Amino acid sequence: MLNEKICEIIEYGKLAGEKGLTSGNSGNISCRYGDKIIITATNTTNGYLSPEDLIEIDFDGNICSGNKKPSSEKFLHIEYYKQREDINAIIHVHSPYLTAFAAAGVALDENILPEIVFSFRQIPLAEYAIPGSMDLVENTSKFFKEYNVILMKNHGVIVGGKTMKDAYMTLELCETYAKTLLFSKLLGGAKILPESEVEKIYSLKR
Ligand SMILES: [Zn+2]
Repeated sequence: MLNEKICEIIEYGKLAGEKGLTSGNSGNISCRYGDKIIITATNTTNGYLSPEDLIEIDFDGNICSGNKKPSSEKFLHIEYYKQREDINAIIHVHSPYLTAFAAAGVALDENILPEIVFSFRQIPLAEYAIPGSMDLVENTSKFFKEYNVILMKNHGVIVGGKTMKDAYMTLELCETYAKTLLFSKLLGGAKILPESEVEKIYSLKR
């Protein structure tokens, strides 16, 4: 079971690297493991992880197993798991398109594409605080209850999923959405869906 979890983080980290969603030593990945969390160590590269880069911690941030220091964003992950029992995997990256919006301080909160409206409603923007700080946890965790994808201003994006595959797929989809939205600005800007159409999309969920 533990090996399976470790392999999954390595597999999806590699995929994120190959797809250009994570670069260098930025970002971190974790998954829930019973009453513990497996998280990438600090100064590791998501795209090139090995088993020794993964650290088991408890919900207070203490190391349970592993020889490296866990990611400095561990409390961000812990808080997400605490608030959301349905979330079992978290990916935090500085993927270029979503991070472009985060850097510009622009939330993806307009209703543009039905698929995104249906799945995520909107992608909110959390206020900036220095990476690794409890202030960042406080600013970002305000959105944990309601959202699975959150932009972190002047920083990057955090995605939660039921499974690692789910979190990864969500990240990939939202990164593509950010790319589409950015290109639409070259063509005069995206057209916003009327409220009546948005209602129809929400009604599909009921
Ligand atoms: Zn970061």
